Amino acid sequence: MNEQAPLTGEDYRDEDLALVAARLAAVRRRLAAAGADPAALSVVAVTKGLGLAAVRIALRLGLVTIGENYADELVAKAKRLAEVEAAATPSWHFLGALQQNKIGRLVHLVSRFEGVDRLAEGERIARLAPGARVLVEVDCTGRGERGGVVPAAVPELIRALSRLDLRVEGLMTIGVRDDAAASAAAFVQVARLADDLGLAERSMGMSGDFELAAAAGATTVRLGTALFGPRPPREGAARRDAGSLAAEMPE
Ligand SMILES: *Cc1c(COP(=O)(O)O)cnc(C)c1O
Repeated sequence: MNEQAPLTGEDYRDEDLALVAARLAAVRRRLAAAGADPAALSVVAVTKGLGLAAVRIALRLGLVTIGENYADELVAKAKRLAEVEAAATPSWHFLGALQQNKIGRLVHLVSRFEGVDRLAEGERIARLAPGARVLVEVDCTGRGERGGVVPAAVPELIRALSRLDLRVEGLMTIGVRDDAAASAAAFVQVARLADDLGLAERSMGMSGDFELAAAAGATTVRLGTALFGPRPPREGAARRDAGSLAAEMPE
């Protein structure tokens, strides 16, 4: 496929739309080949790091669920979208770790929080948005080096969250970078855990591993680069991540 500049603006050209449409068709073919039932699998279009153009293209192509994982970016895009396309009604999913102090600005915009990994976070969401839909993030690396709760601790967290005013719909996980075998094993493990806990939703699989996730029984795949092409490098990302970790330390 053609090289393409990152979709960082607000507007898109016909070529951009055609390119993403072709990529989406390819993704759907690959999902079907992996054994996924298209009717039972939803695609979250992940637009983090990209401009509003990516959101608008997704909506144009019928992908109504939009994933973001930086609170400020989601809020800005939702606001601007309402200005330029008042009729658009995306369903925003917040992916991954959420800074506690940003929940308040997000709750009225987000239709599902995919990445809850602490009871305190669930309590905060339940207080500000009773009945909110959430997924618990599972860390399958066994190294505890990023977001997510280790598999052994999932049942206890699910039990605790279920006592709150939340709809705990399922589990979310991120594969193991550059390790297909470990990712496949993780997806199978998360699907089994969801089964054991009677949870319907399994959000797993990104651009590099969505076929493995689909084969393991994903109900949601979260796709950024496979649909939109490259993201621009995130400015000051390391510093911001360090800041958000620090903000979470007092927990
Ligand atoms: C960025 C991100 C994605 C999409 O990543 P791609 O590799 O571009 O598909 C999916 N899930 C989460 C949690 C992410 O942060």
